[in-house]
Amino acid sequence: MERDALIRSLVEAIRMLTHAELVDYSGHCSARRDGDSFYINSGASIRSTLTAADIVAIDFDGELREGTARPPLEFPLHAEIYRARPDVRVVMHTHPKWSTLLTMVGAPFRPVFPQGALLGDVPVLDSPLSVNTRDMGARAATALGAGRALLLKSHGAVVVGADMIEGFALAIYLEENASRQYMAMQIGSPYVFSDAEQEVCRARLGSPALFRTASLRPLAVDSRAALPASAPAPPRLRRGYERHSRSAGLQPCSWTVR
Ligand SMILES: [Zn+2]
Repeated sequence: MERDALIRSLVEAIRMLTHAELVDYSGHCSARRDGDSFYINSGASIRSTLTAADIVAIDFDGELREGTARPPLEFPLHAEIYRARPDVRVVMHTHPKWSTLLTMVGAPFRPVFPQGALLGDVPVLDSPLSVNTRDMGARAATALGAGRALLLKSHGAVVVGADMIEGFALAIYLEENASRQYMAMQIGSPYVFSDAEQEVCRARLGSPALFRTASLRPLAVDSRAALPASAPAPPRLRRGYERHSRSAGLQPCSWTVR
């Protein structure tokens, strides 16, 4: 993806994750720029109204390659994952309520609905402290291993993807699974998908087309989510968006993630 489109997709992903209440005033997401640098929102940026001007490019030591604003203090979280995982092209660091709640009481994240199976069992970094040093970043990357998500104890979540849509959808699925798991725990013992059932779900649900459809949800549930117009979405996607936006009382607008 060329530079401007990549930055635009990153901006839109962060804004949508903010409106979905997964990113708060201090979350950050990034997109790999090349072998040793990445784009990320600046530390002081207002996430809910982010623009391309809030994106900087830094290397793995935090040195600016593009832009002048300061990167977030937790940039080593992204840097060390990119260093350890050449397959990763986006890293989402969110502060989601339900996923984090599970870590507060030591309840393991378990796949309890089909899309949750795309994440499987999610490991937990056993520290609530900020991932703001190379050492902490390396610990997080090790805890993540070859997986798609990591929970940070009493702090937040990290989701990685091969592209923006995948990272975005998995960030949504992670929190959706956690909220359903939490609610099920209030009335009983949630059913956890077996390994074989998870395999089936992964084979059926791990497609970019379904990720796009799922990604509409945070827009649909938040009446404040009025994103600036960008390139028109494909017809099928637009129909889905318009249906969701009408039911949420929104004015349909164009939408792309990449
Ligand atoms: Zn954080």
